[in-house]
Amino acid sequence: QLTLDEVTKTFQDDDGEIIAVDEVSVDIEDGEFLCVVGPSGCGKSTTLRMIAGLEDITRGEIRLDGQIINDQPPARRNVAMVFQSYALYPHMTVRENMAFGLEESTDMPDDEINERVEKACKDMGIFELIDRKPGELSGGQQQRVALGRAIVRDPEVFLMDEPLANLDAKLKAEMRTELQELQQDLDVTTVYVTHDQTEAMTMSDRIAILNDGVLQQCATPLECYHEPNNLFVAGFIGEPS
Ligand code: ATP
Ligand code: MG
Repeated sequence: QLTLDEVTKTFQDDDGEIIAVDEVSVDIEDGEFLCVVGPSGCGKSTTLRMIAGLEDITRGEIRLDGQIINDQPPARRNVAMVFQSYALYPHMTVRENMAFGLEESTDMPDDEINERVEKACKDMGIFELIDRKPGELSGGQQQRVALGRAIVRDPEVFLMDEPLANLDAKLKAEMRTELQELQQDLDVTTVYVTHDQTEAMTMSDRIAILNDGVLQQCATPLECYHEPNNLFVAGFIGEPS
């Protein structure tokens, strides 16, 4: 279980303090697919980055299976993050991109790393591209590499920040299905940020709706739709995307 307990993030800027995430509390069950939605600037990416350890938290606590993780470095957290921009290293091959994190942050022997990388490539359908560099791949292929790189870590939690946002509609629909199947196969707890209502409504076990850093509701898609906590949720979930 992944727990956010009154997690708060403030930034300092010229005009004073910005509260990007405001005492967000949520329990995410093992294997659950949680979508995080809300308007631009509401704190979605910041929340994910705090779970990943890419951003310090200002107050509160993040726990994984009861252990506090917010004071641990990213590589120790047993979570893997996939970004919208893929964030692949352009000078490395697919194989090297996928092996890099394991080489850097674990003492796993090379042949086991290699085995995991090849298996992940096969699972993602990109094995024949393993010696290419990101610049020689399509957007969808790069996204598969980015996902593969998360899988090889065998994490307890997947964090995804609009992973399909850069893909065209057809590929997006295809990848959405693939992603769902993958998530179910691996049974990995997933926190998935999206702007896409269809994605949130169809992929998630529950949706967390943020506005201005404050969690408005965290419930199943149907509950959010039929029993919204407030007008904001009603308006937001009702909106066609
Ligand atoms: P989008 O949908 O546009 O990606 P988001 O929900 O992911 O938005 P965040 O990136 O989490 O939003 O930003 C939340 C708030 O925190 C915004 O007001 C943003 O300007 C602010 N913020 C984020 N990172 C920083 C930073 N490094 N310094 C100052 N303010 C920041
Ligand atoms: Mg964002």
